Amino acid sequence: MTTESTATPDAEGGPDYDVIVVGAGLGGIYAVSRFVKDGLSVFGVEAGADVGGVWYHNRYPGARVDVESYFYSYFDEDLYREWQWNERYPTQPEILRYLNFAADRLDVRRHFRFSTWMTGAQWHPQTNSYTVTTDTGLSVTARYLVMTSGQLSKPRKPNFAGIDDFEGEWYQTSQWPERGVDFAGQRVGVIGTGSSGVQTISAIAPQAGELVVFQRTANYTIPAVNGALDQQRYRQIAEAVDETWGEMLAHPGGALTPLPTRAAFDYTDTERAEVLEKRWAYGGHAMNAVFTDQGTNMASNDIVSEFVRSKIRQLVDDPETAQILSPVDYPIGSRRLCVCSGYYETFNRENVSLVDIKNDPIVRITPTGVQTESGHVDLDVLVFAIGFDAFTGALDNANVANEHGSHPSDSWKRGPRTYLGLMTTGFPNLFIVTGPGSPSVLINFFAGNVQHIDFVADLISYMTAHEYTRVEPDLRAQDAWTQHVADVSSKLLRLNVENYMVHVNRDDNTRVFMPYAGGLSAYIARCDEIVASGYEGFVFDETIESALTGASLGLQADSVVVGS
Ligand code: NAP
Repeated sequence: MTTESTATPDAEGGPDYDVIVVGAGLGGIYAVSRFVKDGLSVFGVEAGADVGGVWYHNRYPGARVDVESYFYSYFDEDLYREWQWNERYPTQPEILRYLNFAADRLDVRRHFRFSTWMTGAQWHPQTNSYTVTTDTGLSVTARYLVMTSGQLSKPRKPNFAGIDDFEGEWYQTSQWPERGVDFAGQRVGVIGTGSSGVQTISAIAPQAGELVVFQRTANYTIPAVNGALDQQRYRQIAEAVDETWGEMLAHPGGALTPLPTRAAFDYTDTERAEVLEKRWAYGGHAMNAVFTDQGTNMASNDIVSEFVRSKIRQLVDDPETAQILSPVDYPIGSRRLCVCSGYYETFNRENVSLVDIKNDPIVRITPTGVQTESGHVDLDVLVFAIGFDAFTGALDNANVANEHGSHPSDSWKRGPRTYLGLMTTGFPNLFIVTGPGSPSVLINFFAGNVQHIDFVADLISYMTAHEYTRVEPDLRAQDAWTQHVADVSSKLLRLNVENYMVHVNRDDNTRVFMPYAGGLSAYIARCDEIVASGYEGFVFDETIESALTGASLGLQADSVVVGS
């Protein structure tokens, strides 16, 4: 098997590889291992210098996952039994060690080219294959292209006016330098208070001379209630790996967190207060699951939102700071909950202050700090925790073209259009793992990635058995799934709140909720039906004429209108 090639796609003997896997994060590691196990030849490409994906790049102080470690794992018996997490919510260094351990044990590293950027992929209909090119000059062909490049992996650029004039150092949480950063005695500013921001703020505060937090939107931030791993629970799961995995796949979130059992007003006042405290004590995303109707009924949601605000008032000494930190203009859970360790208490420190940039916007970055409308903040170091170009960023970066020169998101201008979040019409043999239209960022990424990759691997086996070499979704199946994704989210309070999961068409304010909100269990049930029916909705070895031009896809895209 060659790993470098200049072969043309129509060279005799077919493509160089069966599959090209893009990205060596937790999905890419599993994908390579599964495809190799299935007897396929695999070429992996990864921009980072080693495995890890987002956990390779997001090595900012305080980074840790907000899924419990019992479930943030591959459910392979050997791997599960050999590994030992330390904490209930593992840190980035521990997760990176785990992914290295898994990559070694699954022997996937040798299939990857590291420090290699994919610069493009071109589909060839004559040979039913892609040519992938890289910034290192490789040109590799394969039958299938599997994007495990993540949905939250293309960092948003900090394009603040004046940033080039800043004379101090500046960093992004999503591209943190391996050498680390010494904050001792420094005046540090953090811009952004999402999941990354709240974690790094709590971690930088004790190290810095002074820390100034620039908050645009207050988030509901829930203490993780982290602690040492419950060894007994871990061992119990290790003895029942397959059974637990089955339970996880039957859970809407792909991790065995508590689910709500009753609507808010089915409880008495006393019971409601108890259940709220119980969820707060459990910590993290459990606060999204207090009442069955909190995601759709504003009155129910108000109870949870106000409960969290009351906790913020208890935790933050200064009432004015507590007020700025309290989200008041949107319901809890309508933007992703942030999970923290001591975030609100950080604002009780002498060396920490908060700037409310919603009311006092940043005008520009200056050579010596940040100029807001009301004044100047002197800083030595700036940290941007401003998020990602979610869902489409990494795919756009990969520059995948069909025979008409179209790219997947050319037809997604009014919101993504996919079949199961896995494929998009007009791009044969291209698989998007955890893409828009799948449960994606709403669930445990281990569950989502492994389920998707197993589905793709089974589909490829089916094609091999039937001697098919080309697959793409039928346009009607894609339209129906896209409509279903829209229907499922149409009653969600979160559809009407600005956040990275909602695509907004600015011309008419129509909104598309990008992930599938029906839960992992419902998603898998549909996948199973599709497999049982002989891959209904997928078209094999046929050219879908109606889907071949960007224009026809664009027309169809206009037809999905959510929330209007
Ligand atoms: P994010 O949730 O998109 O938050 C970005 C933050 O930057 C927001 O506070 C945003 O304010 C602010 N911001 C963006 N542009 C700005 C600008 N021009 N001026 C001022 N403020 C600006 O990004 P993230 O924190 O990196 O998290 C993204 C996702 O990654 C999370 O939702 C989660 O899925 C994942 N993640 C998970 C963990 C974990 O497992 N614990 C940790 C980190 C990240 P606005 O809200 O006003 O836009």
